[in-house]
Amino acid sequence: MNQNEIKTTPPGSVIFCICALIFFRFVLSANLHGGTVVASYPFDDSAAHQSTGHYSPAADDALFRYLALVYSSNHPVMKTGNPNCPEYETFKDGITNGAEWYDVPGGMQDFNYLYGNCLEITVELSCCKHPPADNLPKEWSMNRESLLAYMEKVHIGVRGFVKEAVGGAALINASIVVKGIRHNLTTGMFGDYYRLLLPGTYNITAVAPGYISMTVQSVQVSEGKAAELNFTLASTNSSANEADSSVEHTTPVLPTRHQPLQPQEFRHHNFADMELFLRKYSTDFPSITHLYSVGRSVEDRALYVMVISDNPKVHELGEPEFKYVANMHGNEVVGRELMLNLIEYLCQNYGTDPEVTNLVNNTRIHIMPSMNPDGYEVAIEGDVQGYKGRNNSNNFDLNRNFPDQFVSITEPRQPETIAVMNWLRSIPFVLSANLHGGSLVVNYPYDDDKDMLTQYSQSPDDEVFQQLARAYSQENPMMHNGHPCETLYRDEFFTDGITNGANWYNVPGGMQDWNYLHTNCFEVTIEQGCVKYPWAKDLPGYWEQNRRALLQFIHQVHTGVKGVVSDIRDGTGISNATISVQGIDHTVTTALTGDYWRLLTPGTYSITVSAHGYKPGNTYATVSKDRVEVVDFKLTRLHSDAKGPAHSGPQPTQNPSEKEFQSLIKELSLGQGLDQLVKNTATENSFRYRRYKEMSEFMRGLNRNFPKITSLRRLGQSVEIRTIWALEISNQPGEAEPSEPKIRFAAGIHGNAPVGTELLLEFAALLCINYGNNPAITKLINETRIVIVPSINPDGREQAVEKQCTSTQGLTNAHGTDLDTDFFEAQPETRAIMDLIQEKGYSLSVALDGGSLVATYPYDKPVQTVENEGTLKYLANAYARYHPKLHLGNSGCSNNGDIPVGVMRAAERQSHMGSMKDYSMDFGHCPEITVYTGCCLFPPAKQLATLWEENKKSLLGMLVEVHKGVRGVVRDKSGKPIAGAIVLLNGGVRVLTGEGGYFQALLEPGSHSIEAVAEGYQQQRQEVVVSSYETASFIVIEFDMDNSIFGLPREFVVASAAASMTALVVTACIIWCVCAAKSNHQKDGFHRLRQHRDDYEDEIRLTSMGSKKSLLSHEFQDESESDEETLYANKI
Ligand SMILES: [Zn+2]
Repeated sequence: MNQNEIKTTPPGSVIFCICALIFFRFVLSANLHGGTVVASYPFDDSAAHQSTGHYSPAADDALFRYLALVYSSNHPVMKTGNPNCPEYETFKDGITNGAEWYDVPGGMQDFNYLYGNCLEITVELSCCKHPPADNLPKEWSMNRESLLAYMEKVHIGVRGFVKEAVGGAALINASIVVKGIRHNLTTGMFGDYYRLLLPGTYNITAVAPGYISMTVQSVQVSEGKAAELNFTLASTNSSANEADSSVEHTTPVLPTRHQPLQPQEFRHHNFADMELFLRKYSTDFPSITHLYSVGRSVEDRALYVMVISDNPKVHELGEPEFKYVANMHGNEVVGRELMLNLIEYLCQNYGTDPEVTNLVNNTRIHIMPSMNPDGYEVAIEGDVQGYKGRNNSNNFDLNRNFPDQFVSITEPRQPETIAVMNWLRSIPFVLSANLHGGSLVVNYPYDDDKDMLTQYSQSPDDEVFQQLARAYSQENPMMHNGHPCETLYRDEFFTDGITNGANWYNVPGGMQDWNYLHTNCFEVTIEQGCVKYPWAKDLPGYWEQNRRALLQFIHQVHTGVKGVVSDIRDGTGISNATISVQGIDHTVTTALTGDYWRLLTPGTYSITVSAHGYKPGNTYATVSKDRVEVVDFKLTRLHSDAKGPAHSGPQPTQNPSEKEFQSLIKELSLGQGLDQLVKNTATENSFRYRRYKEMSEFMRGLNRNFPKITSLRRLGQSVEIRTIWALEISNQPGEAEPSEPKIRFAAGIHGNAPVGTELLLEFAALLCINYGNNPAITKLINETRIVIVPSINPDGREQAVEKQCTSTQGLTNAHGTDLDTDFFEAQPETRAIMDLIQEKGYSLSVALDGGSLVATYPYDKPVQTVENEGTLKYLANAYARYHPKLHLGNSGCSNNGDIPVGVMRAAERQSHMGSMKDYSMDFGHCPEITVYTGCCLFPPAKQLATLWEENKKSLLGMLVEVHKGVRGVVRDKSGKPIAGAIVLLNGGVRVLTGEGGYFQALLEPGSHSIEAVAEGYQQQRQEVVVSSYETASFIVIEFDMDNSIFGLPREFVVASAAASMTALVVTACIIWCVCAAKSNHQKDGFHRLRQHRDDYEDEIRLTSMGSKKSLLSHEFQDESESDEETLYANKI
């Protein structure tokens, strides 16, 4: 029943009932009577007390009729309206208004409605008031459906909480006012309320004395589950008029002559100081702030972002996301301090200042005070025009470090840049400003010109950008004059204080253009003053000059057109639908939830929306100044009956559970997600060591108890004929699910180190026990194939002795072979494991061992360079960082000293040939990390509980980790999957596509190149950006040419002029471009190439997948961009 209460009461102690219904805050009730068969609803009496025939409607009359009908329509006799009682009364549809039937003053149902928060109807169950006992079964069967159906209705309408805006405290007895229904409810002791309503659209207001009331317009109530609607009310200024608690008030009560509080903290904040400031504000204003980091700088400083909004942790449907990014150049510090001032201003004035309250309630404002915290630390106060601290600590200018549309940026992409790129792709930002110093002007796209000339480089949205730029400059008393720094640059002049970027000077690789070209966000760059690092005493002046402009710019996010694109059939939002505006060659796409924002200048526009699988929608919208026009689209499916897409072959499709899973991975990767999971899955267990027999029983027991999610396999037998077990845990155990990532956990290769075995057994138990109980574990198992091999060397294990921390007894198998140095040698145990590794399809393997405290990554063999060392190290790190001791790097073991972050390349620890890890790398195409769980090889059993606590989070963490990186499908143009294609990662590491053409590979966060090669096909290359907290990007690699029918190499086919049309076009294009360059027709050459790119992108948009759609199209843009760069490089 959740928190909704329902009651059914026979008439009883009146006093008790009155108290009870006020105390328990019932929502829905039925009062069961006898004498006839009908459901009667309020009111029971009227002011006239006319004895009968007078319909006395309650304010919720329609709802009461509906509720009464729910009961009667499920009752076989009542619904006829003709109960055939001695009085021969009939009731249309088996329901009646109480007073219309007969006037009952002092009835319970009316009291419930008028004085409680409860809706009650009175049900007369049978003609006979006291029927014989043997009639009771029949009565039950007639009323059962009605009782249940009625109870379900406690969940309709709207429900939620009313809280105090600043501290988040529950507001008790706040009134919930629904416009048009003169009946208000009040909130309970948790600020909770339940407002039953019929489906429809309502304007709902929360009112509490002493607070500014809040109205939410157009709340959609659908059939079934209640809509959730939470209110956060800001208290009125104490000096203002007494708040009017009258329920008629649905607009905020504005305090008279209100003056917002101005910031008090004007000083320079170094990193530590800034960090404290941010933490303090996020602690002091928990209900409107959310502090997070998008990544780390080169010197490992967090790139903090403070969100300020009424629901700061989540994207709210229809609420735009806004951002300010400051201090990208470390020595340009004004923006950084202004951002801290702005945080202070928004927090301190929320709930008292109407403008701030309104902005915070209706916008999700993200503030990054410093994108280059390393540079800041070396910059010097008083620097006017200098460069010290401008770049990041690898000495790269971050505002020249983004991919550019015209030139190839060859400098390595910096961690700060990658973090910001990932951030911008993960949130549907609408509007942004990049804050700089050294001049006084707003600079808008494009920042560079295709010929690198200082001339106006117009974007398709030039008018919009000018409007946005002016919104800022006009509010800055100095900027709009257009003479920025007369003492420094005498002749510089910018009309209105704004400039096109390239018209000022070319900035290739800048952030603002990337925002516009690769996300839905419009960004401008604001130079906030001529002095880059002013003296602290001047800071109040900067605030004074910029405070109005900073707010005015945020208001711009509420202009243009916005709305939701949804499926007409079920109303679900359609993500990645494309919104195009006639006459403007720039589209935006819908967010995951189907909502979109399109900034536009005033005027009338023809707007078209298109989404894969749907008929396009089109409408006209008139945009006016300073407000946003809401335009929703409801789209119809192209093939309403077809279940799958028309395309043959594997076609990734979007479904809600996929979206849900993506957010689960994110949740578990960020913040406290994983800790919460560890906490929620705590189980009682008295740990002990299990020898072979007991272990085998345990494995069989898991399989017997959880047959639906486990499959137990014998991989082979040891020398002494002990079974080597593998337990697969999956929602479809034993069946191939090639699209899901597969992870392997193995332990006990050395029989004298059995801790890993016990940890894996407990891990397997945890997963099985929580399946179906814990939603996160359930989803992880549904989406992952988990294979657990607890003991590779059972014979050795039988020989080993507890509490022997260093003994080698049991280390080898029964042939005396160390399986981890002679893995390739054909021992029965290794042969069994080799077969498992050879099955391929594994994306990650985790081996547990003992005798040290470190996580190692490949190779064990002495090799000089490891191609994907970054990724391998990242994976070992992923385990170590969740482990309370490992990541500290101080093992405390005698055999190894300090190991930075507890991770090292295996060969550095103890180099040897023939290891399982190396076999997995070279023959299984699967990275394997080895975790040494503690110094003692065979610690006493009483330490097992602690060891489990230490490793539990890491083990769970690896289940999350295996969903990252990149995954996808390789197929040909006809949609036929290509199994056995080689996918080359960053030009080195290979993975093979399996069944269905699927592949998956883990990669460290950052950008990577992916190439696919298959016999008879043209090589395909793409670029992907991998995030540390998002699920793997799903890419579709489609080979567009299949020459295999000729049975000849491609070169020969082309040379013999028998190539397909596609090949001709491609070849012609390349030749033409080269020629064009030679004849100096650069412009046209570009045009041609870009055209080609756009065609490609459209195709990709159609084939890309799910919520990753938007990410994907960007990745493809990146890819095509790099192709373009390559061609360009060839050209000159
Ligand atoms: Zn700058």
